[in-house]
Amino acid sequence: MTNNRIQRVVVVGGGSAGWMAAAALATYLGKQASVRLIESEEIGIVGVGEASVPHIRMFNSQMLGIAETEFVKRTQGTVKLGIEFKDWSRIGDSYIHGFGVIGRSLGPLPFHQFWLKLFQSGRAAAIGDYSAQTVMAPQGKFVPGVGDAPPSSPLSDIAYAYHFDASLYARFLRELSAQRGVQRIEGKIVGVNQRADDGYVESVTMENGDVVEGELFIDCSGFRGLLIEQTLKTGYVDWTHWLPCDRAMAVPSERIDPIAPYTRATARAAGWQWRIPLQHRTGNGYVYASRYLGDDEAAATLLANLDGKALAEPRPLRFTPGMRKKFWNKNVVALGLASGFLEPLESTSIYMVQSGISRLLSLFPGRDFNPLLAERFNRESAFEYERVRDFLILHYHATERNDTPFWNYCRTMSIPDSLKEAMDLFRSDGRYFRNGDDFFALPSWVQVMLGQRIMPQSYHPIVDDMPEEKLVQYVEGMRATLARAVAAMPTHGDWINRYWKAAAQ
Ligand SMILES: Cc1cc2nc3c(=O)[nH]c(=O)nc-3n(C[C@H](O)[C@H](O)[C@H](O)COP(=O)(O)OP(=O)(O)OC[C@H]3O[C@@H](n4cnc5c(N)ncnc54)[C@H](O)[C@@H]3O)c2cc1C
Repeated sequence: MTNNRIQRVVVVGGGSAGWMAAAALATYLGKQASVRLIESEEIGIVGVGEASVPHIRMFNSQMLGIAETEFVKRTQGTVKLGIEFKDWSRIGDSYIHGFGVIGRSLGPLPFHQFWLKLFQSGRAAAIGDYSAQTVMAPQGKFVPGVGDAPPSSPLSDIAYAYHFDASLYARFLRELSAQRGVQRIEGKIVGVNQRADDGYVESVTMENGDVVEGELFIDCSGFRGLLIEQTLKTGYVDWTHWLPCDRAMAVPSERIDPIAPYTRATARAAGWQWRIPLQHRTGNGYVYASRYLGDDEAAATLLANLDGKALAEPRPLRFTPGMRKKFWNKNVVALGLASGFLEPLESTSIYMVQSGISRLLSLFPGRDFNPLLAERFNRESAFEYERVRDFLILHYHATERNDTPFWNYCRTMSIPDSLKEAMDLFRSDGRYFRNGDDFFALPSWVQVMLGQRIMPQSYHPIVDDMPEEKLVQYVEGMRATLARAVAAMPTHGDWINRYWKAAAQ
């Protein structure tokens, strides 16, 4: 049995994907396998990727045993309660896709069904008034949870993620990994050596001539996909026709006060602009479609729309939205940008690295590389990518904008059948059904569909069983409870200053 165990794991790349993978592998397998990570300071890391989803809290604390306070302080972190989308369906529109639940479900129905009946007759406020996170975000309020709230209350567990400095996170994980036994190898890989009979990777050659051998290779080398693509020629599924943005211009700017506890995504002529507030600076970027906009124009638009002074020159990034045809090929498992990239609109990339790591740990192979493990890994990863892809397309396609060729394309393009079905069903009577382990759950789809002006024509028939008086009490009681609770919360700035203040940089 034991001699089938993998004893040497090599992680290629030291961006956030590489260090997250190395830290987790050392934590769980460090006693039986050596974990080595190769990175090149000369090549560097992509260095963006500063907004996350709530799963990162679980990954940090449960998977790696990192204390929240330490993480936030070390990464100049702030709270993210969701994303504000400005000008997406029409210029002048604004809505927040918040994390967590909307209201409280009742019997077989989610809260928004009851809300729909009242809203359609003009007796309810916008959906954002019925979810703790979307009430807190625009008011700049934050607490991690309301201690005495009953478990059924939307206040018992505030759903939040973080904004953080990606380079500081990689550095923090590097230290943690070293403590857990990961050996770091600095230098450039100049050659990849494969077994003659089956093409499995057996070693990589470094610029100084050293050869690093391994049984399992984790490719975290970024967009280039050094092992998975350049060596194994795995192939890529290109989704540019559904997600036309393929470039970004990124620039940091001065910190702005008060620090907003949410990301802002403002639609622009040929894409959208992000604003990510950190403790020491603000991250900004314009994600755009090169078919419709030149780099110089993108940089000029970005610089003209910053809330604070720019701290550097805009930096261009290129990508192809899509995924590898296989995430696990032979003895190479790709994670992070090496495995694919769907554009940063819903900040899902770091989450997908983390879910890939969990999947790898649960399907961890022996030296015989049972093909069933790789097949399952590839099936689950592709499913995750495809479902997130549909959710992203929704933001672009469900628009009324016709003011630029980019938005005309997005509004009229053909979409995957799976997405069309979800939109049609919701438009009819507000129903949405989660697809298996789909990452984005019902509240996300409901908020974005409504925010993008897909208004259901009706609501679920069971709602009519509730007497009118009780319905108003239930729906509007929720709004009043949340409004009161949020009014009493500290501001996000106060919370950070009190508990999570990072050292000045
Ligand atoms: C514009 C943009 C915005 C983004 N925003 C978000 C966001 O808000 N939220 C989110 O979750 N994700 C976001 N992402 C994605 C996120 O940045 C990445 O998922 C994350 O940083 C992981 O990157 P990585 O580690 O895969 O690659 P990289 O950071 O590129 O790291 C690659 C590593 O491989 C090493 N390497 C490569 N070749 C060699 C070689 N020959 N020899 C030795 N070493 C080598 C490099 O030195 C480096 O260490 C964004 C991405 C882009 C492009």
